[in-house]
Amino acid sequence: MGRLASKVALISGGARGMGAAHAREITAEGGSVVIGDVLDAEGEALAEEIGARARFIHLDVTSEHDWANAVALAISEFGCLNVLVNNAGICTMGSIENFTLAEWNHIININLTGQFLGIRAATPALVQSAPSSIINVSSTQGIEGIAGLHGYTASKFAVRGLTRCIAIELADRGVRANTICPGTIATPMNEGLDVSDFNPMKRKADPQEVAKLVVFLASDESQFISGADILIDGGELAGHGPLLQR
Ligand code: NAD
Repeated sequence: MGRLASKVALISGGARGMGAAHAREITAEGGSVVIGDVLDAEGEALAEEIGARARFIHLDVTSEHDWANAVALAISEFGCLNVLVNNAGICTMGSIENFTLAEWNHIININLTGQFLGIRAATPALVQSAPSSIINVSSTQGIEGIAGLHGYTASKFAVRGLTRCIAIELADRGVRANTICPGTIATPMNEGLDVSDFNPMKRKADPQEVAKLVVFLASDESQFISGADILIDGGELAGHGPLLQR
């Protein structure tokens, strides 16, 4: 309780899934949140559930106008903005022969350009309210490839590069930037996926387990962590399974 008492966070894609868990956990730790999403009904309901320290705003991360409004709302409602969680994302797939240019542009726009636009819109407020923290959501698919996930994997690799540049560029103005790389998390994005063959813990994570990491990175407890890629995957990328059965 109270680890984020002085923090105001803007969470993209915060209406459901991991973003909603981040909103609940940040406010449970005393912070305030602006939840931005294209899912208006879910976002409004979540803000109402959380109460006085939450607001919802319609935010399409591909819109500069929506980002400007979301940053302005954080400042008008809560007085500052010092945490940005770039969480919104989509996952589409297909064979390389069939993955269309429109599909490619769509996923790059949301998963990568959306984060760039969010950082650009929030930076003046983050600098003004420093110490501040940017948390960009990548994936284990930002570290290793997977057949058929061309746009998703490319976007999530690129998020790590973007984050490193920002970490260097804003360090002397009190803004840290880190990437988190979740493995398989139990959200609507991967409903029906069986992980028992490839995850050493043979389970998906609960979104709240990722939210605990977001709280740590949002807080000043992590004040010397910047430019890092932080895996949270139950050991999935640690290596391969046993050569011999026990
Ligand atoms: P989710 O589908 O439950 O949530 C994604 C949210 O992003 C939704 O609320 C959706 O409405 C929102 N969104 C989509 N397009 C948007 C746009 N243009 N503007 C604003 N919001 C938009 O999925 P999730 O699993 O909670 O995913 C959250 C993030 O975590 C994503 O970036 C995803 O790529 C990443 N991730 C998920 C997993 C997983 O296993 N679930 C693993 C690694 C990384």
